[in-house]
Amino acid sequence: MKYKYLFGPVPSRRFGRSLGVDLTPFKTCSLNCIFCQLGRSDATAADRSEYVPVNEVIAELEHWLAHDGVADFITLSGSGEPTLNSGFGDILAFIKENTQIPSLLMTNGTMLHLPEVRKAAAQASVVKVSMGAWDQASFEKLNRPDSAVSFADLLQGEKDFRKEFSGELRLEVFVVDGVNADPVDMQKIAAFVKEVAPDKVQLNTAVRPAAEDDAVAVSAEALNELALLFDPPAEVIASFSGVKIEGSKVNSDKLLDMLRRRPCTALQMADVLGVHINEISKYLPELLTAGSVHREERGAEVFFVAV
Ligand code: SF4
Repeated sequence: MKYKYLFGPVPSRRFGRSLGVDLTPFKTCSLNCIFCQLGRSDATAADRSEYVPVNEVIAELEHWLAHDGVADFITLSGSGEPTLNSGFGDILAFIKENTQIPSLLMTNGTMLHLPEVRKAAAQASVVKVSMGAWDQASFEKLNRPDSAVSFADLLQGEKDFRKEFSGELRLEVFVVDGVNADPVDMQKIAAFVKEVAPDKVQLNTAVRPAAEDDAVAVSAEALNELALLFDPPAEVIASFSGVKIEGSKVNSDKLLDMLRRRPCTALQMADVLGVHINEISKYLPELLTAGSVHREERGAEVFFVAV
């Protein structure tokens, strides 16, 4: 069965093999972050609605659980902000009732000021919220929010959610050189993080191709120093190390499907599919010639990005 809303399992830096569940049309998001791997948005969205039919997503999950069912996490993320889908809580409830695989909600946190969103999100095993600003001005510079979204609501929503959520809450701080990498600014972010009191704080940076060319990564050394500004110190997310899925078959459709969700190097694709890089190299020329993917150099690495 070819799935419309499920993808992967895909590589994940911290969550191993992650089956993705995509609950929005491409780049339906309340933010337009300068570091977004999905590219720049034409418009933002702050209205919640059933962007994709929840019953169809659940039917796909039922099929996947019956015919495959191997992953470390089932993750609500993909090509937009999952909490904008008004039925995302029903998907989390289905996962909780029908499998032992833990669920992960990856969110930008902008809807957490709404009580109904907090209640729905609290059904996840793990919730990971991204943040990187310390006031409205920095929020607008880094995340370019929808006009209906404010930094004050974002922060209050995260604090309220922490009080109501008994699962694991992680905060990921995305660091961009020249925007929020100054230690003075990071100290302000660290103070907010302390108020939210997550179980874990992680620092990340733009190691993958981003929406804007000026979303520049900071060095590992700089991240390590910034991590010490958090109490307890934040964890620096190191470069991706692959998780092999034994027996995966490679074909150009599978590679393209993976790249539509996330730019990857050839080595990352080989790692996650559990094959030699030569196997990946057989299909990449075909995808490049067809114009389905293009190459982007970032530092010493070459990423392949779906067009
Ligand atoms: S990085 Fe995430 S939150 Fe930011 S614009 Fe992209 S999808 Fe939205």
